[in-house]
Amino acid sequence: MSILREIIEKINTEIGFAGELRFDEPMAAHTTFKAGGAADLWVKPQGDSFPRYTAALLRQARSEGIPVFILGGGANIVVSDRGIRGIVLDTSGWSGWAVLPPGEGGTGACLAVRSGTPVDTAAEAAAELGLGGIEFLAGMPGSVGGAVWMNARCYERSVSDILVQTEFLDAAYTPREIPFRAEDFSYKKSPFQDLPGLILSARFHLVPRVPGDIRAEMEKHRRDREQKGHYRYPSAGSVFKNSREFGKPTGKIIDELGLRGLRRGGAAVADYHGNLIINTGNASAADIRGLVETVRDTVYAALGIRLEPEILFVGDWDAA
Ligand SMILES: Cc1cc2nc3c(=O)[nH]c(=O)nc-3n(C[C@H](O)[C@H](O)[C@H](O)COP(=O)(O)OP(=O)(O)OC[C@H]3O[C@@H](n4cnc5c(N)ncnc54)[C@H](O)[C@@H]3O)c2cc1C
Repeated sequence: MSILREIIEKINTEIGFAGELRFDEPMAAHTTFKAGGAADLWVKPQGDSFPRYTAALLRQARSEGIPVFILGGGANIVVSDRGIRGIVLDTSGWSGWAVLPPGEGGTGACLAVRSGTPVDTAAEAAAELGLGGIEFLAGMPGSVGGAVWMNARCYERSVSDILVQTEFLDAAYTPREIPFRAEDFSYKKSPFQDLPGLILSARFHLVPRVPGDIRAEMEKHRRDREQKGHYRYPSAGSVFKNSREFGKPTGKIIDELGLRGLRRGGAAVADYHGNLIINTGNASAADIRGLVETVRDTVYAALGIRLEPEILFVGDWDAA
């Protein structure tokens, strides 16, 4: 712990710090699953010095061999009950957006959004500006950085459908711009999953649209999520990926095997949605992971289908 204190004191003295930081911070407070243990150090830098501060912190942590986990909205992760060793760098203090002039040959505009901005807020901002194209993300939990990293997908659209460019803090912690290349993205897959670094911002290609129509579409998506019970209990959304090869949605496969309502400790397969595991109140991360494994193994034993989790297990699982 003392090395963490030394690192943070050094950086804070050199660069100055605006934001929040705490040692031994319970991660349940920062994830939509509301479960899991504490991070050794949780840092949430805020303000325009964010890129400079995070670059210095990442560089220093690497030279000391301290792991750093980059946290967006915590909407797709399960943190181990043993917590996360090292530093959790929370991006939620880095938010905001700007409209850029239309790109070459395009009819629309570019919205540049800082990575810590919630995707729902980004969609709202676009609506306010009369720009459509990002409506599909309204109501989805999580940040712009997390959505780009995950290549989040809903309502038949993926983030890669609107992404133009990403500003990225690379492994040398130098900011650089990465132009979008369609071949680098696929279903729930982005190149950032194989690139160490931090997504600083994303540029989305948007098109002018009547604000009333944009809002109507956003409301439709939010209502649909509400009706499907997305917000009823803490969760991380769909647990397993879909695949055309399965011939039907993963949730239906799980439903048909009668697994809705299956429980382990405080975790349960939602009785209203087969591909949703919920925290009914006091689930441990081990309950959630155990239930994910039971569902996966049951589906494989019954049908020979290998389900792949889309939620990420983060932190100190080896020692759990
Ligand atoms: C109720 C509910 C409904 C959901 N519905 C959907 C859905 O319809 N479609 C869908 O795709 N997902 C869905 N999800 C899952 C989740 O919302 C998405 O995966 C979302 O994109 C995760 O973003 P996040 O900011 O929370 O990422 P986190 O969970 O914080 O992190 C996910 C990964 O991204 C990395 N990361 C985050 N920010 C950065 C950054 N700035 N730079 C580098 N790496 C970063 C993290 O290190 C981690 O590896 C749902 C979740 C919930 C709770």
